[in-house]
Amino acid sequence: MRQVFHGHGAARGSALGRARVRLPATFDITEEHIAADAVEVELDRLHAAIDSVRSEMHALRVRLHGALAHEVGEFLDLHALLLDDPELLQGLDDLIRAGHYTADYALKLQRDRIAAVFQAMDDAYFRSRVEDIDQVIGRVRAALHRHDAGAEGRAGDILVCETVAPAELAQLQAQGVMAIVATGGSPLSHSAILARSLHLPFVVGASHALQRINDGDVLSVDGSTGMVVRDPDAADLRDHRARAREQARERRQLNRLRREPSRTTDGVDIKLYANAESREDVAEAHALGAAGVGLYRTEFLFLQRNELPDEDEQFRVYRDVVLGMTGRAVTIRTLDLGADKADRSGLALRHEPNPALGLRGVRLSLAREGLLETQLRALVRASGYGPVRILVPMVCSREEVRTVRASLKRVVSQLRREGHEIADHVPLGTMIEVPAAALALRGFIDEVDFLSIGTNDLVQYLLAADRNNEALGELYSPLHPAVLRLIRDVIRLGQARGKPVAVCGEMAGDPIFTPLLLALGLAEFSLHPGTLLEVRRKIRHCSLVAMRKAAPALLRARDRASILAWMRTHDCAVDG
Ligand code: PEP
Ligand code: MG
Repeated sequence: MRQVFHGHGAARGSALGRARVRLPATFDITEEHIAADAVEVELDRLHAAIDSVRSEMHALRVRLHGALAHEVGEFLDLHALLLDDPELLQGLDDLIRAGHYTADYALKLQRDRIAAVFQAMDDAYFRSRVEDIDQVIGRVRAALHRHDAGAEGRAGDILVCETVAPAELAQLQAQGVMAIVATGGSPLSHSAILARSLHLPFVVGASHALQRINDGDVLSVDGSTGMVVRDPDAADLRDHRARAREQARERRQLNRLRREPSRTTDGVDIKLYANAESREDVAEAHALGAAGVGLYRTEFLFLQRNELPDEDEQFRVYRDVVLGMTGRAVTIRTLDLGADKADRSGLALRHEPNPALGLRGVRLSLAREGLLETQLRALVRASGYGPVRILVPMVCSREEVRTVRASLKRVVSQLRREGHEIADHVPLGTMIEVPAAALALRGFIDEVDFLSIGTNDLVQYLLAADRNNEALGELYSPLHPAVLRLIRDVIRLGQARGKPVAVCGEMAGDPIFTPLLLALGLAEFSLHPGTLLEVRRKIRHCSLVAMRKAAPALLRARDRASILAWMRTHDCAVDG
């Protein structure tokens, strides 16, 4: 029966497909027994499920190729290893034979037993394995309950889940998942950022979707509005087709802007840099005529693996980004890991009580012996192949900037002594995402060459609103007078001291904010390539003189409603 779920659009695009439901791996399964004569049947059921998961993982491994093969492959190999663990398998059989438990309950008991062993270990890396065990056991459980043979491999599925980890997204896409509907999450989460990068329609906060949607249900998903329809009727199908046509039309229209400048109606060129996480992003940024890369997040290089990438490996990745941009500036951010996106190598602490306020970003880089120096060496070596700028995340004090600057100086002289060909100058900039850095900017602006405002975190810290907490709704939003004022102050100070200022948070990539950011004086945007042409189109409809004239009214706004009213009056409407 038709049912509508309203979530939030986190990655645009429309999809029509069948639901692949993934229940949360909480394993609160009640104890259930089977009759003695049903033991063999239950064992057969379980082994058929395990075999199907095994072949599904094998098929995926074979299908993987390209840039993600190595990363995702390792992850799959680890899961295959767990699935073949004789202790796990024998334990399951014993529980069903001796205890007459259902396969589900046997899986739960085995999961809890293995998880307890891992959780008791001192080593953070081993503790992190519990997630893998949950995923493997979760897959087997899903296979046990699959009505439709082969459903897991079905291309065109729409995954319905509680949350999805950034590292899983590429794997899901490789499995043929064409959209994701999550009951939790937020459009500003790292998963959402990555989904946009992969062009994978993504709806977050679709509450009740897990309770009401069954595996195999037909769904229509709109990644822009966040609307999900189960069992779409004729009108929904018509809407879906219309959206698909509209998207194709808009794509064609936007594609005409690929070679056009990002120039306001009064002739001012605005720099549009790209945010990138992958080689594909870099290629797209180049093809769209981005001014360069404004934010290359390096943490994805450190996730999904058991050891840290060494200097040479890092160097090769950074060099290839630089080469991919053929002489345009490439801004590479030093590692921004933390307990919120903890890695497998155990570098980032996993169980911090308050990860967003913990040992993340530059704090972690400075706390771990050799981590920063290795990354700086790789980055500076890449500068021999084209212009590289180094961006440091989560800075909150002058001391941190000075420490990184001193380290960079040391690395530059070392590399010169070793005979490496490197740039004469490698600009060093900081993210402005901790309010203290914005407020104390005068104290260290002379130490940096450029600034990049990270509105995703700035909003979270300034408003004490978790960027991943769906329950906060509009509380987490850049449309707050304090946020606008702080952005304006940073831009103004940067301009006064001749330091370029960009905004690289998601705000820069949403065309609804373009006029507002121009009014605040922004001349450099760094955004995901997926929305670059839309922002360019918006800029081409704005008059900079008019926006700057309207700035005082925007800064006088006392609340969200007045800011929204300003945005409605100054939306530089794009017609047709
Ligand atoms: C930000 O905080 O705005 C930002 C760009 O960094 P990240 O989203 O990677 O935290
Ligand atoms: Mg940030």
